[in-house]
Amino acid sequence: MLLISCPWCGERDEVEFHYGGESHIAYPDDPEAITDDAWGEFLFVRNNPSGEFRERWLHTHGCRRWFNLLRDTSTHEIVRSYRMGESADQSSGAERESD
Ligand SMILES: [Zn+2]
Repeated sequence: MLLISCPWCGERDEVEFHYGGESHIAYPDDPEAITDDAWGEFLFVRNNPSGEFRERWLHTHGCRRWFNLLRDTSTHEIVRSYRMGESADQSSGAERESD
């Protein structure tokens, strides 16, 4: 069982959440000006690293808010959760406990 820490509600079981894909994907500044290939890349191409990855999650069965999670995809360790508009580095959200 994976415990996910919502920045508002605290640690909850993963079944309360919905995965929303990679976070921090910027919407094109001028969507009328970009090519079809650039649109395709914006919509469908995502990173898939083995290691730390920033992703969006929705607390579906809780506060119903979106937030970001920094997670290690190779170990499933959750490094930090943080609210939308914050960066992974300036989090006021929950952090993993030190070893
Ligand atoms: Zn919540």
